[in-house]
Amino acid sequence: MTTKVSGLRLATRLDEVGFSDIVQIRNKVMALRAAGEKVHMLHGGEPYFETPEPIKYAAIQALIENQTHYAASSGIAPLREALAKKLTEKNKIPTTPDQVIATVGGSQALYGAFQSVLDPGDDALVFSPYWTPIADLIRGAQARPLLVPTSSARRNGITATLTQFSTPNTRCIYYNTPQNPSGTVIVVADEAYEDLVYEGEHFSIASLPGMAERTITTYTFSKSYAMTGWRGGYAVAQEPFMTALRKIVLYSTNGVTTFVQSAMLQALKTPETEIAWRRDEYRKRRDLLVNGLNSVGLTCDPPAGAFYAFPNAEKIHKNSRTAAEILLEKAHIATIPGSVFGAQGEGHLRFGYAISIPEIEACVEALKAFFP
Ligand code: PMP
Repeated sequence: MTTKVSGLRLATRLDEVGFSDIVQIRNKVMALRAAGEKVHMLHGGEPYFETPEPIKYAAIQALIENQTHYAASSGIAPLREALAKKLTEKNKIPTTPDQVIATVGGSQALYGAFQSVLDPGDDALVFSPYWTPIADLIRGAQARPLLVPTSSARRNGITATLTQFSTPNTRCIYYNTPQNPSGTVIVVADEAYEDLVYEGEHFSIASLPGMAERTITTYTFSKSYAMTGWRGGYAVAQEPFMTALRKIVLYSTNGVTTFVQSAMLQALKTPETEIAWRRDEYRKRRDLLVNGLNSVGLTCDPPAGAFYAFPNAEKIHKNSRTAAEILLEKAHIATIPGSVFGAQGEGHLRFGYAISIPEIEACVEALKAFFP
């Protein structure tokens, strides 16, 4: 039993910060599996393949060479040079090595970006549905996430929508769809899925004229190279934001694990053909799942990027939490309720398809059995 000590209190900056709803679903799935039940695991967001061998060997080699000491907190020089080259050539963001910083996953890059630009009382515009942690990252900076419905941006145009939702306190826009906002706000561009665009080409917002100096772009090794557990990411920004990011990384983690940085450097040597081949593998999975969903009346457009399908699930239940519960209990399919991605996600369920083809086929079979 824990004893209550009176007078202890938390820093108020955490008052409005929630703890991922997705964890509750994960716990339920684990309990079902522990009870010996088969569960179709479409609730996750991790690549279906393992970290490629050359990347693993680069980390092993670095360990053997005793790269186990403190390194530059913003990243080792060869890694920052390779990242600057990649950003300049692939993303068309002209970058020098001192404009890039290695981070602990894309998560620390995003944390650093919001901490760098937001003051208490500021507003941040977030296109909704959005990746769940974003609102909490903004609230953790004692700022307010203002949800901008993506559907109205599609309908009325991006400039009109941003104008409609911005306030005098709007300091930043969180953006992970390539478009061109204007004004004096700072853009936090999250390009976690840059290598997973099925239709057309990904382009970086910071490559647009006049945008590089007002954009902090964040990336991760998690998705492109199946490295979720390695916690490798990076951010590219100009001054004054780079100084802020350096301070935040220094005083939070003092840099990325030294030998992980060697693995990140190796990952950057992955030929584009290998990345394209994996993208085709994801496309096969997308088409298989989306066809299956539509065939049972869970209507869904094929997603143009990333590895999630987001069908309308009102046929199961209007409330997406209830719909997810029903699907988990009756069909043993684990999904994420759309409402955790913002009010605009209500009525939908998220199915992650970064899993094996037989697993997707089994899920489609279970759906067909559920909707006979
Ligand atoms: N941005 C988005 C949109 C994501 O979905 C994720 C991972 N789910 C990340 C950033 C960060 O990933 P990580 O911390 O694993 O690099």
